[in-house]
Amino acid sequence: MRMQHAQSLPYASSLCGACYEVCPVKINIPEVLLDLRAQVTDQERGQFRRFLDPMYLGLRIANLIFSEPGLFHAAQFFGRIGLRFFTRKDGWIHSLPSLAPNGPRPATCAACPARPSTAGGRHAAASR
Ligand code: SF4
Repeated sequence: MRMQHAQSLPYASSLCGACYEVCPVKINIPEVLLDLRAQVTDQERGQFRRFLDPMYLGLRIANLIFSEPGLFHAAQFFGRIGLRFFTRKDGWIHSLPSLAPNGPRPATCAACPARPSTAGGRHAAASR
């Protein structure tokens, strides 16, 4: 079944199951909606425009980084370097760039603690 005009419909439900509970003939709408969601995903899988979706790309990149230990460690390493641009001398992050020019100001937060030295074995600093 082509879903080109109702692709968002299967996602409108919270899949709470209340309709199934009260349905006198036990039509399992949540199960039907899950199947429709799979059909929408399958249809979109063949379309190039999904690569233009920032969320799709972000999740694909995150999936790649979290599934490759080397990439994950590299991301942590560069993340710490990047964090230095936002961390003040007091070790706190006072502001982050906002996509919305008048967007909300993030709360001040402490930067990630420095990684404990591995001298004398892993987490030696933490156990002292
Ligand atoms: S599962 Fe049924 S009752 Fe619950 S939100 Fe979806 S359609 Fe509505």
